Amino acid sequence: MSYDALVIAAHPDDAEAQMGGVLAKLSDRGQRILLVDLSDGEPTDFGARGERAEQAAAAAAILGVERISLTMQDRLVADSLPARLEVARLIRQHRPRWVFGTGEACVHPDHAAAATIVRAAVFFARLENWDQVPGGEVLASHAPWKIHRLFFPHCKMEPGWSDAAFAVDVSGVYDRKRRVRIHLHGQRWAARAL
Ligand SMILES: [Zn+2]
Repeated sequence: MSYDALVIAAHPDDAEAQMGGVLAKLSDRGQRILLVDLSDGEPTDFGARGERAEQAAAAAAILGVERISLTMQDRLVADSLPARLEVARLIRQHRPRWVFGTGEACVHPDHAAAATIVRAAVFFARLENWDQVPGGEVLASHAPWKIHRLFFPHCKMEPGWSDAAFAVDVSGVYDRKRRVRIHLHGQRWAARAL
């Protein structure tokens, strides 16, 4: 299955917080988007186990995107060779034109790790000869893939940026973004359809 864009983030609410309006806008234009949550966001102090998965699925439906979750542990997401290879394999498998990661100036260590994992994975995905690298066999089943653009959206729980390469006007879809009610780490998290 190929996608126009992969949005790779540490937790199930990050993509919505960083670029929910952009996701709605892209899906409205027929772009096929896959959200990749590195972890399932569990445990959380603000909901029973399993609630977050239901909320994440509801949020994806509202935004018109698809979503998968990997098995990295929330709070312990770390940049490692296996993590880089796992994400690189997904990039090769889904062959996106664009990849969205997480900005690197992060307070949350999981977000910081996601930023470096994604940057490395995008690079790894386009290299050949992984069968000659110990551990690299995981990439051998898919052909190398070079994306067109890598973006780093800004999460509002992180420190503000002094500048940005560009901004996207999401005023036309903002009501829909607001339907995905995201309360970041430390607050109650919920997503629901009105
Ligand atoms: Zn997060």
